Amino acid sequence: MEWSNRVLDTDVCIAGAGPHGLSAALLFNKIDPSISVTVIDHSNEWLAAWNRQFERAEITTLRSPNVHHPYPDPFALEDFRIRKGFLPSGLPYNPPTTECFSAFCAEIIDDAGLDEPLIAVPQLVQSDQNGIELITSSGVIRTRYLIIATNPHEKIIPKWTRDLFQEPNLVKHALDVNLLDLPNLEGQSITVVGGGMTAAHLSRGAVLKGASVKMISRRPLQIRDFDTDPGWLGPKYLSDYYSETDAQERIQLAREARGGGSIPPWIHNSLLDLSNTDSIEILESTEVISAQSESSKGCLLKLKNEKEVFSDQVWLATGTCSSLQSMECLRPILENVSFIDGFPLVDRSLRLEPHSVYVMGRCATFALGPAAGNLWGATRAANRITRDITGVELVSNGT
Ligand SMILES: Cc1cc2nc3c(=O)[nH]c(=O)nc-3n(C[C@H](O)[C@H](O)[C@H](O)COP(=O)(O)OP(=O)(O)OC[C@H]3O[C@@H](n4cnc5c(N)ncnc54)[C@H](O)[C@@H]3O)c2cc1C
Repeated sequence: MEWSNRVLDTDVCIAGAGPHGLSAALLFNKIDPSISVTVIDHSNEWLAAWNRQFERAEITTLRSPNVHHPYPDPFALEDFRIRKGFLPSGLPYNPPTTECFSAFCAEIIDDAGLDEPLIAVPQLVQSDQNGIELITSSGVIRTRYLIIATNPHEKIIPKWTRDLFQEPNLVKHALDVNLLDLPNLEGQSITVVGGGMTAAHLSRGAVLKGASVKMISRRPLQIRDFDTDPGWLGPKYLSDYYSETDAQERIQLAREARGGGSIPPWIHNSLLDLSNTDSIEILESTEVISAQSESSKGCLLKLKNEKEVFSDQVWLATGTCSSLQSMECLRPILENVSFIDGFPLVDRSLRLEPHSVYVMGRCATFALGPAAGNLWGATRAANRITRDITGVELVSNGT
């Protein structure tokens, strides 16, 4: 797809080339390759943000089972693994290795002949009866349909960190920690705040690089195979969810289902093994209430249980919240959209009515439930959106 005079006309524009945007692009391609689909992103590579987050936290295995991926056939990833001779992860429920998942995604992109994403960031999005116009960093895009798959979010930063951010490199949100850049942490004391998967990966990574780690979890660690109960991936819980007519109640159900962070037993066991070596201490059911930076270096954290912890660095594995409203460029579109707790009240087709603008990922929680942001949600969202736009339902997955 080429820009001509900095104006590009397309049938569908997908903003965001992550697993969700990829799922939608693949499904359009399967339903009708003559539909022109333009994918835009900060990067001209597919899955750049996804790959970066796995590399930086040195995550070698996904958490979700291998039936969840961007391609419409759930068994395609396992078939690929066997065909290409990748070893299974060997973990319960058979999550794919990061390496195999990436190779699989590269193959499905290649097989479908998808163009690489265009580098363009929307600055203003306007819609009227003639269609949608995006003014982007690279030019103007005129499209009939726009799909927002940018995973808009804000970091959750506890208030007690305010003073620490005045000092360089004392505190970082997990998204800004790059283990690859930290080859040796010998002699460093690092506090990881959080009790979920990211906290576990970063704690483990820091210990393996020689740091002495304290992991502080507000609740007792929640040991669960998946971040969302699998009942939320089918009729067991979704039937009641879909029939709930009170919007507030629905969002509440979704929030409760996600709860806070959790970790699967295999990573818990690996943390316990490390804690036997005294290189990591897991402090559960307590939280930091204040923090003070020390004049020479490091900081002192005061905990609710009256303990004090000294740290050279604090990493906040405190999560992110979905935030479509943080996309300033969408202001004209969002004017008439209702939100509850930051989630837009999209229709069944994930559309921000009355506009021909659709959302994927966590922004689709109201329609898809608590697993909307996971890989499971990607194929579901792609299915609903493509069905609405093309009238064709290629995959019937009951959701
Ligand atoms: C460390 C980690 C591990 C995870 N592991 C799993 C797992 O194993 N299984 C699972 O089901 N889920 C997992 N998740 C949850 C979820 O699947 C991921 O967050 C996934 O990346 C979401 O895909 P996405 O396409 O919505 O967003 P992203 O992968 O974040 O992709 C969004 C894309 O949009 C682009 N973008 C952002 N803003 C703009 C803009 N303004 N203009 C243009 N482009 C923009 C970004 O560059 C990016 O490429 C994990 C999440 C994290 C953080």
